[in-house]
Amino acid sequence: SAGAYGAATVWVADDQRLGAPLPQPRVDVLAKLVRDEGYDTVLFAQSVLAADVAAGLAARLDAGLNWGLTDLSADGTAKAPQLQDTVIVDVSWSSEVKLGMFRAGALDATETGRSAEIKDAAVELEDFSTQAEMVEQAHAEQQGPSIEDADVIVAGGRGLGEPEKFALAEELAQALGGAVAATRAVVDAGWYPYSAQVGQTGKTVSPKLYVALGISGAIQHKVGMQGSNVIVAINKDANAPIFEFADLGVVGDLHEIVPKLVELVRARKG
Ligand SMILES: Cc1cc2nc3c(=O)[nH]c(=O)nc-3n(C[C@H](O)[C@H](O)[C@H](O)COP(=O)(O)OP(=O)(O)OC[C@H]3O[C@@H](n4cnc5c(N)ncnc54)[C@H](O)[C@@H]3O)c2cc1C
Repeated sequence: SAGAYGAATVWVADDQRLGAPLPQPRVDVLAKLVRDEGYDTVLFAQSVLAADVAAGLAARLDAGLNWGLTDLSADGTAKAPQLQDTVIVDVSWSSEVKLGMFRAGALDATETGRSAEIKDAAVELEDFSTQAEMVEQAHAEQQGPSIEDADVIVAGGRGLGEPEKFALAEELAQALGGAVAATRAVVDAGWYPYSAQVGQTGKTVSPKLYVALGISGAIQHKVGMQGSNVIVAINKDANAPIFEFADLGVVGDLHEIVPKLVELVRARKG
């Protein structure tokens, strides 16, 4: 399906040695492709594995890597928010091969209606690339989309009052087909897992809709979610900082509002 979104060629490296999510074998395949095909730009979508692969490829090709990008221009410059997103910096590359890592959700895929040519990529691995072995892999249990991928996020903060009340956030997220996120205050208190934390020391997300329940809107939280298309905040304090950057603010008790909202969303969805 990459062809439908603009890819002219899709390279397939179908080899069981690439099965485990380890970076070095992927670096081998990519480095050979870049050298053989003369590609001058390699772009990654941010993830833990992509970060490892991009860093390895940068070292292998002596290429510059720009990180946390949100846009790329045809003139070879890119946009990179810095200093907790308070400034947007134009960055470029001085190396021949340019590597860029994009923030998750920074770009929307656009259908072009074309289709791609599918080619097999040669898999020739360096000896040192096969020295690491995946011994065990564990995934956090999760239902529904992850917060990095979700179009809708319902985030809960200390205003929920107690850990059990995260059920409200979960119900609303389920009704909207979204994922649940949390502030550091509630993660530190053990109400919700760290994997759901949004902010400076958590994840950066940019969904289409971010619903903040009982969240004050501290700068450390804001930097992780201010890229959301539409921010809706429910908070009982009309002076809460979150209302300074929310698109829609509802002043009131979330315990009264959210159950009604869930009912309404369910009724609307039939
Ligand atoms: C170095 C550093 C890094 C940090 N990193 C992060 C980070 O990554 N992510 C993050 O989130 N925070 C981070 N923080 C913490 C941040 O400063 C805030 O303390 C935290 O975001 C506050 O979480 P909160 O909004 O849930 O809680 P609070 O600030 O306590 O806000 C709770 C809100 O709920 C409202 N409320 C209460 N009851 C109700 C009700 N019944 N109905 C509706 N509203 C109600 C209150 O009016 C209040 O506005 C960091 C702090 C530091 C110093």
